[in-house]
Amino acid sequence: MRVFMERLILFDIDGTLTRTHNGYLPFNDAIEKTFGIDGDIRSVVPDGNTDPMIVKDIFIRANLAMEIQHTDWQYFSATLRDCYKDAVRQGTTTIRPLPGAMELVQALWAGDNIHPSVVTGNFEVTAEIKLETAGLLPYLHRGAYASDSHHRPDLPQIARTRWQQMTRRSLRTEQCVVIGDTPKDLAAARHNQMKCVLVETGRYPVEELRYCEPDECVADLADTQSILAMLSNI
Ligand SMILES: [Mg+2]
Repeated sequence: MRVFMERLILFDIDGTLTRTHNGYLPFNDAIEKTFGIDGDIRSVVPDGNTDPMIVKDIFIRANLAMEIQHTDWQYFSATLRDCYKDAVRQGTTTIRPLPGAMELVQALWAGDNIHPSVVTGNFEVTAEIKLETAGLLPYLHRGAYASDSHHRPDLPQIARTRWQQMTRRSLRTEQCVVIGDTPKDLAAARHNQMKCVLVETGRYPVEELRYCEPDECVADLADTQSILAMLSNI
């Protein structure tokens, strides 16, 4: 008899569950309001990175040496949240679920054995705005965010621990599956001995994603039934 394995799915947000258009507007706005500099997220490669590391890269790119304190990050994340809220309300920034993302998280949420959660480089407050705007927030357990650690490889374990504390049940690391769109998602999964599925809906070339040898690589999340079957068997 085949025993069904319980799973915790740790979805990345940007490029995996959602696509943001003009996300640079609120990001640059928040940098200017927090640090008083004219930084531009478009000058760096943000994919797969955490928001604080993106800010540090922008500073390096602009040849700015700045000591950033813990309180600066608190102010930055609150400001970024407000800038995102404004930009979404004004319609200058849009955030939409990628094909199949909504159907997949709804199906997982309705089921018993595969639990959907998130691991993202966004601060929790901005992750919430993105997921809420895309309509996905009600179908995802609280996961791990850049507000928990700036170092992405720390995050999958934090999400697993948080899920275990919330449910008072335990899951082994090999029962956790990171789903992301960059080699950094894969590296974070492997660092924690977790499985990884890469989706080709981000900005990384398919060849590069496959070369990294994830457990699975899919074009997108559109075929709900086949993704569900894959997650059960991975
Ligand atoms: Mg991503």
